[in-house]
Amino acid sequence: MKRVIVVALIASIIMSLTACGAADNTSVPDMSSTNTVSVGDSVVDISASDNSESKTQDIDYKALVNKLHPLPDGWEDSLETVMVKNSLGDDVEVEKKAYDAYLKLKEDLEKENVHVDLDSARRSIADQQRIMDDFTKEYGADYALKTVATPGYSEHHTGLALDLYLNIDGEDVYLNEDMVQYPEIWAKIHEKLPEYGFILRYLEDKEYITGYGYEPWHLRYIDDVDAAKEITSKGLTFEEYLGAVNTTDVTVDLGTSELYTEDELKEAAVQVKCKFASFDGCMLQSLRYAGDECNTEENIKWLNSLDEGAEYTKVAEFLMDFHTPKENSGAFDADKDMKDYQWWLAQDSEGSWQVVSFGY
Ligand SMILES: [Zn+2]
Repeated sequence: MKRVIVVALIASIIMSLTACGAADNTSVPDMSSTNTVSVGDSVVDISASDNSESKTQDIDYKALVNKLHPLPDGWEDSLETVMVKNSLGDDVEVEKKAYDAYLKLKEDLEKENVHVDLDSARRSIADQQRIMDDFTKEYGADYALKTVATPGYSEHHTGLALDLYLNIDGEDVYLNEDMVQYPEIWAKIHEKLPEYGFILRYLEDKEYITGYGYEPWHLRYIDDVDAAKEITSKGLTFEEYLGAVNTTDVTVDLGTSELYTEDELKEAAVQVKCKFASFDGCMLQSLRYAGDECNTEENIKWLNSLDEGAEYTKVAEFLMDFHTPKENSGAFDADKDMKDYQWWLAQDSEGSWQVVSFGY
């Protein structure tokens, strides 16, 4: 049984790797630690009776949880969730109010012949730790840290993050690479989100802020229609709205290449930007491809030597300018312009990028 779960997780993690670093859409429902009420005829009601007594306080629907901000203390004690079964037969656990809002959104979308379902919502910290432990055992700590989101730092812990999938002409469409083929359907969905208190969380070209590649399916419930409308109309990330990041205009220059397609270089830049999002307080200014001449035998050998078991066949270097935080953060000197900071990525024969090294 465990083996099956791990295989399924690998598939889903590899899928999301193409989008950005650590996986955020592995689904392992857990009913252990929150006040869960079940919904739907095929699910057993497990704790409706002690629901109101065990809830200690209200959760903050605008809590920021990302690669730098962990789930607030006490969250799992205060959280009230419902457990539902999706059309694929999977159990999905969602925060109560977010689920009510989702049902209204879904109903509204159905009037326009757009059909959605819930792929994954809440994952407990314990679930995430279990995934991390399984991966560490199977593939070693290095690989696990690189591929699995750090327990405590996934927005899915909140129960307020919902991953949708589509049903098109009666067929479920749930693989990431298939779902992205329907931008016009996602546009219809995204347009309706704010009215129900939802925002789209991982925006295109904002990876350096969110730490994740574009995910049209990942919604966040914030329980505030006005704020959701402002965030959406201004094209903001949640981090920007909350004032949690310093941002300026960012230029990305993919240059010219005979070695890589534009899409490959775009994807490499996304990987770099995702990683940069964890440079706490740093402000990205520009990112540029250093040119095909970086792909030397020597550099390929060097990057292979840094990653045990790697079989990289091609490398790419990117150069970055950024500004360090006003206050000394430990990692960098305060308030400094960092020019030509180097990022080294490598591809294996499958063609997927890994950020292998960065620094001067
Ligand atoms: Zn998600």
